[in-house]
Amino acid sequence: MSDVKTIQNLIGGQELDAIAGATIENTSPTRGQVIARIPRSQKADMAAAISAAKTAFRGEWSQWSRLERADLLDAIADKIDAHKDELAKLESLDNGKPIKLALAVDIPRAAANFRFFAGAIRHDKTDCHSMPGAINYTVRKAIGVAGLITPWNLPLYLLTWKIAPALAMGNTVVAKPSELTPMTAARLGQLIHELEIPPGVVNIVHGLGAEAGQALVEHPDVSLISFTGGTVTGRAVAATAAPQFKKLSLELGGKNPTIVFADANFDDAVEGSLRAGFLNQGQICLCGSRILVEESIADRFEAALIAKAKEMKVGDPSNPKTDVGALISTAHREKVESYIELGRKEGGTIACGGNRPDLGDALNSGAYLNPTIITGLGSHCRAATEEIFGPVVSVHRFKDEEEALAMANGVRYGLCASVWTENLSRAHRVSAKLDTGMVWVNTWLLRDLRVPFGGMKESGVGREGGRYSLEFFSESRNICIKL
Ligand code: NAD
Repeated sequence: MSDVKTIQNLIGGQELDAIAGATIENTSPTRGQVIARIPRSQKADMAAAISAAKTAFRGEWSQWSRLERADLLDAIADKIDAHKDELAKLESLDNGKPIKLALAVDIPRAAANFRFFAGAIRHDKTDCHSMPGAINYTVRKAIGVAGLITPWNLPLYLLTWKIAPALAMGNTVVAKPSELTPMTAARLGQLIHELEIPPGVVNIVHGLGAEAGQALVEHPDVSLISFTGGTVTGRAVAATAAPQFKKLSLELGGKNPTIVFADANFDDAVEGSLRAGFLNQGQICLCGSRILVEESIADRFEAALIAKAKEMKVGDPSNPKTDVGALISTAHREKVESYIELGRKEGGTIACGGNRPDLGDALNSGAYLNPTIITGLGSHCRAATEEIFGPVVSVHRFKDEEEALAMANGVRYGLCASVWTENLSRAHRVSAKLDTGMVWVNTWLLRDLRVPFGGMKESGVGREGGRYSLEFFSESRNICIKL
């Protein structure tokens, strides 16, 4: 019992239990053990946090210059770096992801998010339009209280991707992290408050989406909602926020194609498809869960991919050699398994995986699943078009470019795609015709934080990243002066 942490809300600079006293158990998917209790916050807790954020927005914080805010963001990044090992361990335990991934990606990226937006506001510029007899200049104004809602797959990485630009532009924030992964958010709140920051600028409220999340979205004093999560939830968030004309950014689900042409560098394409399929147990919105391969190389490609997938080391996330850790929960694993079964029923062959590894008594109560490859499935099947969000990919064969594009675009989602070809003209041509917000050519998940990030169709609305985030987290205002 002593290992069970008590996590509290951070409201107005104070750590508090939920007003009604209710809690939720937080279970680690690594061994199925309870690791923390978090507040089960309700409307009253959210109202207190929003009120603290509103007061802070009007107070001393509004006097902070852009350069002072940039220095604060850098100081937060330094704190994250200084606690990198601790945060990586918490993230791995809470989420089930391999420690080596948390150390190489999640935590460094969280620090990088703060440093990036510190630099962005130091070097930001706005427009000036001169016209006969007048000049116009554009200024960006902080909006107020920003409501930030994040999922469990990249807990600190995505939370900081929102907190950093929100603070950079002078807003105050109320964040609602996923109830499944509260640990690093809570620790970040503590680390931020070791710095000189007015109380109420950063508030973190834990709880269930339908309770705490909904209360945040519907509150009239929250002028902006940045939401990352599933498409169904995004639709509910939009339905609540839109009638109040809140500024809204929705980063939602994906069913992203990896398109491999016969002229691709074969080994790179196999390696890239494997990484895109299974990184973070396939639980990244950008994962390439549909692999489309040109017919002439398909047999060889499938054989190579299957061989590599079988080599991946599934197991204890705290082991630095582990490639594939635990899924977020046993309930989520059941959902993923139901899709594997559906794929089988829809005519697919489970070419590898599809089952749980035997990792011994200590780990068998965790949420592990072997990397799974489904072949021979029609590209319109449900298992091939719905987001599974686990270590499952389906491989489909195409005859030519036209058919590849029809398959790639034939889903409701439009987040990203990766294209593998050595033909430069084809790379440009195919990229232009893909209905996705992002395209990678001969790579996947290579991120420059300045570029627009976001999806088309049911993968979301709006863009974050670089100046797109600065614009989203502020109001651009024009001032016209007659000369
Ligand atoms: P989810 O939609 O279940 O939950 C996301 C967050 O929303 C959680 O904090 C949850 O508590 C909260 N929430 C739930 N119901 C709510 C409501 N009615 N009002 C307000 N908030 C509510 O998503 P998840 O299962 O945590 O995450 C997985 C999904 O996120 C996948 O679909 C994945 O593709 C998507 N995702 C998208 C991106 C992107 O950038 N496009 C990035 C990561 C994850």
